[in-house]
Amino acid sequence: MSAPAPRRTFAIISHPDAGKTTLTEKLLLFGGAIHMAGEVRARGQNRRARSDWMKIEQARGISVTSSVMTFERGGTVFNLLDTPGHEDFSEDTYRTLTAVDSAVMVIDAARGIEAQTRKLFEVCRLRDVPILTFINKVDREGRDPFELLDEVADMLALDVAPLNWPAGMGGEFKGLYDLRSGKFQAPDDTGTRTAGAITQMTGLDDPRLDELCGPIATRLRDQAELALGGYATLDPELYRKGALTPVLFGSALKDFGVEELIDALAEFAPSPRPQPALPEPVKPTDPQVSGFVFKVQANMNPQHRDRIAFLRIASGRFRRGMKLRQVATGKAIAINSPIFFFAQDREIADEAFPGDIIGIPNHGVLRVGDSLVEKDDVTFTGIPNFAPEILRRVKLGDPTKSKQLRTALTDMAEEGVTQLFKPMIGSQWIVGVVGQLQLEVLISRLEAEYRVAASFEPSPYETARWISGDPAEMKRFMEDNRPAMAEDRDGGPVFMARDAWELNYTIQREAKIRFSAVRERA
Ligand code: GDP
Repeated sequence: MSAPAPRRTFAIISHPDAGKTTLTEKLLLFGGAIHMAGEVRARGQNRRARSDWMKIEQARGISVTSSVMTFERGGTVFNLLDTPGHEDFSEDTYRTLTAVDSAVMVIDAARGIEAQTRKLFEVCRLRDVPILTFINKVDREGRDPFELLDEVADMLALDVAPLNWPAGMGGEFKGLYDLRSGKFQAPDDTGTRTAGAITQMTGLDDPRLDELCGPIATRLRDQAELALGGYATLDPELYRKGALTPVLFGSALKDFGVEELIDALAEFAPSPRPQPALPEPVKPTDPQVSGFVFKVQANMNPQHRDRIAFLRIASGRFRRGMKLRQVATGKAIAINSPIFFFAQDREIADEAFPGDIIGIPNHGVLRVGDSLVEKDDVTFTGIPNFAPEILRRVKLGDPTKSKQLRTALTDMAEEGVTQLFKPMIGSQWIVGVVGQLQLEVLISRLEAEYRVAASFEPSPYETARWISGDPAEMKRFMEDNRPAMAEDRDGGPVFMARDAWELNYTIQREAKIRFSAVRERA
């Protein structure tokens, strides 16, 4: 058996409009996975056309679903996990980030670090996910490069190590100077990078820089020297520990910095890392096949009531047809038609290795957070559910459809789109979401996929927390607060509060009960 090609499994995090879609296209283009930029968008539109509920995506111009794209370059296999950019879907994004080994943070050179970038960065930090920074849109007027680097350093408390330097930005942009190799790339007449148009400089004092940059050459020399002296040099170990971020300037639109980004990922980004699990972390070199489900997507094809569970392989050499056991239930599942996500199309996979993602078609058996193993039980940890910020009762248009409604709500909860709470008193289920947009998606999908017309009515409660503690204390607390108690879909006890004040009051009064805003499925 030959050793598998090295894997780099990563996600791109950014604030909407920073250029994630454009960069994704270009990564796939330079990774040879697509032949024409624009295909990612085009493919996306086809997919959308097939699924009614995704009309919301189109109407709002946002991407609600995550997907996986695999490409290969220079003998390295890259698995790019797409994360939805809209903040209402941060829950999905967070879970996707549990399945990557590193992340690329895209920043708009004119805007610097924005709210969403920062939030996503915090999640990466929680999980020690190393970050490579791509400062995009240098072909446009942007902020001063030092200011941008200092902002990254200050706001994220990271050392920054610039790998290249822009000779001017916007109208003045003359090219990028590679601080490590001394290679210089200049744009062609259209401002685009042309393959092969690279000049190997003897150093910053090379007179050819004057030819290519004119008066900007002096600025480039001064700035690049300052940068080389003032910022850290790239220490790959510090990067992989999450203490330092290598920074590339570039323009996804004009192809600058994209190949360098792929090469930097291949050179420095971590290979598949051990994954947190009980009884102990799972190393990619462990012989048995194991993995965890970080995402479930239902009804990708409305013709079939299928669902795809996205499994991140944590260890072993997976082969098609293998039986894996779902640790939570002990059920054996034969995986006969796993899906690989080559960017061009979904393909049937014969083999997958640690770091790879496979799609497993199933009928609702597999859930987010599930651990699958070949032999010995391990339970992967750290795949979170977040406490909902909005709780609603669902009101049915046609009361005879209550059975369909329950099925639909359970399905959506299993997919992780929404959460579902069954109050201890009364029979009306309560739906919980982290953001308003999820409610709209839910209503729209109920209609499109389940033919159930529904709307929401306010629930008496606004927020919820999972609770735990000593059994006797728990029993007492639940008795005292019966009307506010509910169960989540796994039977876990949940306390619902009318507002933040009531929640805080209860937390302070009940020192023996633990209130948690995050729940990991164990
Ligand atoms: P996303 O929301 O992060 O996926 O951003 P998009 O990739 O859709 O880009 C948002 C806008 O910025 C689009 O109009 C892009 O054409 C534009 N854009 C992306 N990258 C660049 C770049 O490098 N230079 C310039 N000038 N525009 C860019």
